[in-house]
Amino acid sequence: MNPEGNLAQDTLKEVAKEVAVCTRCALHHSRKLAVPGEGPADAAIMFIGEGPGFHENEQGRPFVGAAGKFLEELLASISMKRSQVYIGNVVKCRPPSNRDPLPEELLACSGYLERQIQAINPRVIVTLGRYSMAHFLPNAKISDVHGQSMNVKGRLVIPMYHPAAALHQQSLKSTIQQDFLRLPELIAKSASLPEQVEAATQEKKDAKQLSLF
Ligand code: SF4
Repeated sequence: MNPEGNLAQDTLKEVAKEVAVCTRCALHHSRKLAVPGEGPADAAIMFIGEGPGFHENEQGRPFVGAAGKFLEELLASISMKRSQVYIGNVVKCRPPSNRDPLPEELLACSGYLERQIQAINPRVIVTLGRYSMAHFLPNAKISDVHGQSMNVKGRLVIPMYHPAAALHQQSLKSTIQQDFLRLPELIAKSASLPEQVEAATQEKKDAKQLSLF
């Protein structure tokens, strides 16, 4: 791996170490294992869900329950495997009884997600569910924008419904399946954003230089 890749991997490991013992918000009380996220440090695509559920909290891995199986099926429908993409969440610890994360919890955890995004520098971010969409598009309504791509700070952000919501609501299932089928075309479109991605690479170089001091 090149030096930039090593730097990204180091950052991801550092974030994983920090979230394992983090007490920045009340969610640490319901944490068994933190779920920092997983995938290649140089992934071109990042999927961001809401927060760990029961199985994720037990195993310390994202999307390992029924929703994870559905996500893998969706990836397979576009000839992709989960090992090719980075998968994470906006909060790294399980909300009790799978309740929605609170604004203060989202805020407390957002710095970890931002460090992961800066390190991985993905061309495409697929948000799963309204809380991860709101991290990038605070005023958007998911029913209006799902499946559409938007340029946010030089990256293509594509909001989608959360696979767990689709499992509970049959009408959403076909919507998310159709949105996924459009992903390859949108990913190809991301190749036309070189200047912004280069800017992000420069940010990483700057961060590396700063870390030397
Ligand atoms: S959810 Fe995030 S901010 Fe809250 S305790 Fe866990 S790692 Fe820390």
